[in-house]
Amino acid sequence: MIPFKGQDAVVQDRGGSVTLRLGRRPPVGAASRGRDQSWACGLRDAFVAENAKRRAKGLCKLCEGEAPFSRADGDPYLETHHIVWLAQGGSDTVENTVELCPNCHRKMHVLKREADIAILRAKAKP
Ligand SMILES: [Zn+2]
Ligand SMILES: [Zn+2]
Repeated sequence: MIPFKGQDAVVQDRGGSVTLRLGRRPPVGAASRGRDQSWACGLRDAFVAENAKRRAKGLCKLCEGEAPFSRADGDPYLETHHIVWLAQGGSDTVENTVELCPNCHRKMHVLKREADIAILRAKAKP
């Protein structure tokens, strides 16, 4: 069983049943099921992720806001971001990762603002 598979509601209609799709399903075969990397930017090292999480203390490194919600196990939900993306030669190290709230994480990937990157760089230093 995979939680969060998308919620389908089966509606009984006169001619038979119709399945309504509520919510988007990830494409079949998409990223690492079973590992909690819902919006990972290529994270490979669980230790590094854990470390970044601990440093974050539940606060986003960019807006300094609290995680929008907690995971089932009670940990604040933040996403690990690589300041220099792995695809661009960034390293999977503590210095190159920060915890961001989902909004800021998306923003980093969409806007790629130098000013934001500079802020994260400064904060990622141990
Ligand atoms: Zn944020
Ligand atoms: Zn990222």
